[in-house]
Amino acid sequence: MKKCIACGMPMEKPEDHAQEDVSKNYCLHCAAPDGRMQTYKEKRENLLTFVIRTQGIDADAAVGVVETMMKDLPAWRRVKR
Ligand SMILES: [Zn+2]
Repeated sequence: MKKCIACGMPMEKPEDHAQEDVSKNYCLHCAAPDGRMQTYKEKRENLLTFVIRTQGIDADAAVGVVETMMKDLPAWRRVKR
């Protein structure tokens, strides 16, 4: 099964892919409105908002969670921080 390279979400259905395009290796949550993949900065901001909201932790703790999460994903392995 394919996984999103930018967030690790399994992509089972065409609708899970960006723009329902199964040739794209990132999911709908990682696509910008124009269909390109979000940048590291954009994805990081989105994940921070998500983690703070869903896990109820403060911003400082969320940064650690998000950076650890992103470090192991193929899309960001070679990104300079
Ligand atoms: Zn994704």
